[in-house]
Amino acid sequence: MQSNVPQKITIHEVVLRDGIQSEKKLVSTKEKVTLTNDLIKCGIRRIELSSFVNPRLVPQMADTDELWGTIDRKKGIVYAALILSEKGLDRAIQCKVPHVGIYVSASETHSRKNSNMSVAEAVKEARRLISKARGAGMEVRAGVMNAFGCAYEGNVASGRVLTLVRDFMKREPDEICLADTSGMANPLQVKKTVKRVQDIVGAVPISLHLHNTRGLGLANVWAAVTEGIAIFDTSLGGLGGCPFIPGARGNIATEDTVNMLHESGIKTGIDLDKLIDTSLCFEQYMGQTFPAAVLHLRPSS
Ligand code: ZN
Repeated sequence: MQSNVPQKITIHEVVLRDGIQSEKKLVSTKEKVTLTNDLIKCGIRRIELSSFVNPRLVPQMADTDELWGTIDRKKGIVYAALILSEKGLDRAIQCKVPHVGIYVSASETHSRKNSNMSVAEAVKEARRLISKARGAGMEVRAGVMNAFGCAYEGNVASGRVLTLVRDFMKREPDEICLADTSGMANPLQVKKTVKRVQDIVGAVPISLHLHNTRGLGLANVWAAVTEGIAIFDTSLGGLGGCPFIPGARGNIATEDTVNMLHESGIKTGIDLDKLIDTSLCFEQYMGQTFPAAVLHLRPSS
């Protein structure tokens, strides 16, 4: 194995945010709490619970504040949320959220559709939000959406991504995230972009948020792993997709990612068998067949 391949990978589970945000069936607060606790029992150590958005735009997130009040926070677990505005950040501060993700899109068109702001305006806003969140004692992940291409604009020049990362770094985030929001990344591009971003961020960890829209999700994980990336956003069952991206498809599946890493001798701390049980339960609750590949392969299922 190549020397810069990490021995252990951290899974940042996003089923309760990206995973269900576009699902028509509303997941009850009780089910969200149950699923969170079950995922932790499987060995998940980082979990994104929700986004603080306008519930009229994303009805699935209408119970976000209630959920944060209900969840029993266990030691050693990173509970995270996505923030899109100052109003959302204020709610998150109120809910004592310990870890927030703040993103700017590298695509002008997506930025306007997602946040009603130009990229320049969104950068200004993100600077303020990062400083305020840090001031409130939160850990901050600063992310670039559409870092590898955009469903509206096609190619996104990597220079735009690097400029955003450099800007973020001035605000001293705890982590930099590169998001393939439209699922357009390819493995070679992932390697090249990751290397350039590593040169900018130094010791600050980089996480990757990948979608399997074009079937390249796991290939992209592996490309990043060989460059030393050790944090990946994944979604149980492979659910997910941005409501503001046409044809958006699922995030990379947690089960498939864990399976690939374990088969390759990389630890995740996750019990795959338990994870599959949890996913099958949630699949039943949602009343649909999840796209994750290893989910239905077990002889017992
Ligand atoms: Zn996503």
